[in-house]
Amino acid sequence: MTLLDLFDAARAECGSTLAVNDVSYDDLAAGTMRVAQGLIERGLRAGDRIALFCENRLAFVYVYLAALRIGAIAVPANVLYRSSDLTHVLTDADVSLVLASAETAIHLDGLDAPPIVAAEDVEAWARDASTAGAQPLRRPEPEAPALIVYTSGTTGRSKGAVLTHANLAVIATQLVTAWRWTARDTLAIALPLFHVHGLCSALNGTLTAGGRLLIHKRFEAKAMLVTLQQPGVTMFFGVPTMYVRLLELPDPVDFPTLRVCVSGSAALSTEVFERFAARYGITILERYGATEFGFALTNRFGGPRVAGSVGVPFPGVRVRVASATDGEAVESGGVGELLVSGPNVFSGYWRNPGATAAAFVVDGDATRWYRSGDLATYDAQQQVYRIVGRLKELIISGGFNVYPLEVESEIDRFPGVRASAVVGAPDPARGENVVAFIEAEPGVPFDAAKLDAWLRTRLASFKVPKHTSVIEALPRNALGKVEKSKLRALIEAHAESSTSIC
Ligand code: AMP
Repeated sequence: MTLLDLFDAARAECGSTLAVNDVSYDDLAAGTMRVAQGLIERGLRAGDRIALFCENRLAFVYVYLAALRIGAIAVPANVLYRSSDLTHVLTDADVSLVLASAETAIHLDGLDAPPIVAAEDVEAWARDASTAGAQPLRRPEPEAPALIVYTSGTTGRSKGAVLTHANLAVIATQLVTAWRWTARDTLAIALPLFHVHGLCSALNGTLTAGGRLLIHKRFEAKAMLVTLQQPGVTMFFGVPTMYVRLLELPDPVDFPTLRVCVSGSAALSTEVFERFAARYGITILERYGATEFGFALTNRFGGPRVAGSVGVPFPGVRVRVASATDGEAVESGGVGELLVSGPNVFSGYWRNPGATAAAFVVDGDATRWYRSGDLATYDAQQQVYRIVGRLKELIISGGFNVYPLEVESEIDRFPGVRASAVVGAPDPARGENVVAFIEAEPGVPFDAAKLDAWLRTRLASFKVPKHTSVIEALPRNALGKVEKSKLRALIEAHAESSTSIC
């Protein structure tokens, strides 16, 4: 089965109803075939790579869908990429065409980039009913690559994770099933479509369920709040910072038809989960995923939704918590690396057999497990999994393991803290010291000494940060994830200049 089979099944039932913004299923299908014709005329063929370098807009959706129809491979590119990342992605994926808009094309200037297809032209082709669309095309094989998504990569060059047409079909089906997603749903998002969260979850899920997707170009809390109040809007998918921003708006409002709010891509703090529930009566459904496998764990739709947890495996997904040293399964309550297996898991990194081999372990049953690099634990009492940090972010201080997320969750509860990030700083005596960076609530006085005293009543002493530094804004990527490598670089720079970061 491929994603196109699922889309066609939904379109057969939902033809005249709205699919994306104000475009119906029938118009989306017809527009896609016109865009496919335009791309074929520009030389795009099955197996070729086309980069999608544009902000959230219909052109992105059309070119993505047209690429799937042609059997070409879509390569979404982060709109924040500049010459170095762009050159890497365009060269590594050996891209033959690039979708770019007036906003993004300027960043391709001066690069040895392939020919550009303008987003504005694509939208005109899609609307132009006087032109014939491409003839029905041969269906891509389920195992053929559909997408190459470059991972955000905290170290080294980003790698292209290859997701097949079958992977995408499985991922969309898993979400639709687990979250009881139907043709009556309207989902609002401001997530970038260049990321799996926006693309594989929001867009593919909607077009599989037969529902409607409302896409905001970028997240702006007030505008999103207005959308979520509209009758008929039933779902919202966001990253934790979006929930923080929604909570910062002054007056609580009613969401007449909103039935599920999903959070992912980074840890949702217990504090935000609780405040959102208290204010809006909505228990956010947290799920866990990654580019390489789409999604693996979700809180149960029917509840209980456990704060600070990522729930249970999606249908068809297997997970294992494995010791980072010997790979053996860790007992419940213990911490280990989360391994993921299932038909949703990617086939490998694009033209990178070394990285692909390193990303998997094969067990005695010949099951291929993807090594997520995330540290997890199974809570047998609540029967849920919890993500406690990244393997590479684990801090070892004086021989004790410190999981940054645990410390951040406590700091985030302290009055005046808007967000925090905990990293390890090299220390000759202890190996590493726990260091906290804090983004304070604007206008609320923040007292580091009081925070320290408060943390000491809640955490083991080796987990309490040795240094606390207040910064105006934590460095974040396009998905709102804190870029800890930049914080570590800040520590290194200060160490070199031998000044304290506090
Ligand atoms: P990406 O490939 O950019 O989607 O990033 C995937 C990574 O995001 C995972 O490996 C996790 O480190 C992190 N992540 C995603 N969802 C969650 C979550 N619910 N809680 C904690 N970390 C998460």
